[in-house]
Amino acid sequence: MAEELNVRYYKPRDEFKLDVTDIENFVYDMSRCIKCKGCTWVEHTYMPGAKFMTRCPSATIYEFDAYGAYGKMRIGHAMAEGLLDWNEKALEVMYACTLCGACDVGCKRNLDLEIGLTLESLRVKAVQDGVGPMPAHKKLAANIEKKHNFYGAAHKDRKGWLTEETQPARKADIVYFVGCNASYKNQEIARSTAKIIQAAGDDFMLLPNEWCCGNTLFSVGLYDEAKALAERNVEAMRKTGARTLLTSCAEGYRMWKVDYPKLLDIATEDLGFEVIHLVEYAGDRIANGALKTTRPFETRMTYHDSCSLSRLSEPWTPYEGKRGWMGCVEPRLKRRRGKNGVYFPPRDILKGIPGVNLVEMPRMRENAFCCGAGRGTKEAFPDFARRAANHRLEEVREIGAETLVAACPWCKSHFSEVTGENGDAIQVLDIAEVICASLDASA
Ligand code: SF4
Ligand code: SF4
Repeated sequence: MAEELNVRYYKPRDEFKLDVTDIENFVYDMSRCIKCKGCTWVEHTYMPGAKFMTRCPSATIYEFDAYGAYGKMRIGHAMAEGLLDWNEKALEVMYACTLCGACDVGCKRNLDLEIGLTLESLRVKAVQDGVGPMPAHKKLAANIEKKHNFYGAAHKDRKGWLTEETQPARKADIVYFVGCNASYKNQEIARSTAKIIQAAGDDFMLLPNEWCCGNTLFSVGLYDEAKALAERNVEAMRKTGARTLLTSCAEGYRMWKVDYPKLLDIATEDLGFEVIHLVEYAGDRIANGALKTTRPFETRMTYHDSCSLSRLSEPWTPYEGKRGWMGCVEPRLKRRRGKNGVYFPPRDILKGIPGVNLVEMPRMRENAFCCGAGRGTKEAFPDFARRAANHRLEEVREIGAETLVAACPWCKSHFSEVTGENGDAIQVLDIAEVICASLDASA
C-alpha cells in the first residue's frame, strides 16, 4: 500500500536535523505516528477521573481527529508527499492550535517523535507555500514590523508603565525584558516586577530600545521575520554587558531561552547571558532571605502552568545526526520531554505566603491544559480560544479555587477576559502581583 501511494513509511531520510525550515526533516516523525492518541489523553493512571482527561485544546474543542496532533501528522505527511494541497480547512486545522506542546510530551512518553517541532515546521511550510499565516496574524506582523509591538500602539509609550518608584538604573547586571503585554496592557505586572527586584536589593536596567520579542511571528511560521528580530534583540542584550535577562512574561521567556537559540542555530548556553523568569529570581531571593513574603494573602488559590514556562521552556541544543534502525538516532539526542519546566519555584513561592491555601488542578505541570490564547490563536480563532479557557476554568471551579494565578501576562489577559464575560467570581492574578502584595511592609 505504501509503495502504491509512493509514500516513505519505510524509507525515511537517514539524516536527521531539527531545522524547522524544511518539512523533510520531519517526514519520519509524521509517518511514524501510530495514532495511539497519547497526544490527546492524559495518562489514565495519572488522572483521578474522566472529566479532565484530555491534554489537547484543539482536539478537545473541535472534537474531530483531524485537529489532534495525530490528524495534523497525517495531513502534514500527505502534503510533504505531494498528495494533498493546502485548502481552507487544512489551514484551519494547522492554525487552530495553540502550539502548547502538550501533544509533544504525550507522544514522547512512548515514541520520542518530534511532534512539536513538526507542528512549527508545518506553519513555516504554510508561509513558504504562500498560504499562511492567517489574516489576523498578518495584521499582528504588520504591527510588530511598524510599531515594534503586538498591539500597534505607539512605540514611544512602551515605557508608560514606569512610575517614580519603579525607575530603572542606567547600568545593572539584570536587564528586565518587559514584553508587549506588560508594557501596554497589564502594566501592574511590570510595576510589581520592578518593585520585587528593588525589594530584593537589586538594580535592574531596561534594554535601551526594547522591541517585541517576536513570539507571534515565530509561532505563525514567519521564520525569517522572527530570525531578524532574534538577531536584533540578542545583539542589543549582549551590548548591555548584563549577565542576566529577567522577564515576567512566559512567552518572552520561551522566546529568549529556547526559540532565539533555535532561530540562531546556537545552544541556549551560548547566548552569552542567562535567561530567567521572575519566579526563578524571586524563588532564589526568598530562599536566601533577601525577599520576605510575610504579608498574609487569605485565599484558596490554584496555579496555572503557562505552557511557555513549563513544558516548552527546556533549553535548546542544535542537533544534526543520523537515524538508524527503529528510528534510533546517532549521536544521542537530548530529548526535550517537558519534565524540566519551571514547575516548583512558583508553587514554593505561593505556598510560602501566609494565608495562601494552594490547591492543584487535576491537570498540572507538563500535563496542564493550555489557556487557549497563546501563539496567535486567540487573534485568529477567538471562539476556540474562549472555549478552551472555559474548559480550563471548569477545572478551577471543580477544585473550588477563589483565585487563579498564572506567571504570564497573556494567560492573565485571557482568563480575565473570559471570567469577565462569564461573570465568574474567580479572581485572576499574575504571580508578580501576588508576590508584590505579600512583601514585608516593614522591610
Ligand atoms: S501520541 Fe504520537 S504516535 Fe500517538 S497518535 Fe499522537 S502523535 Fe501519533
Ligand atoms: S500543540 Fe497543543 S493544541 Fe496543538 S495539537 Fe498539540 S496539544 Fe493540541
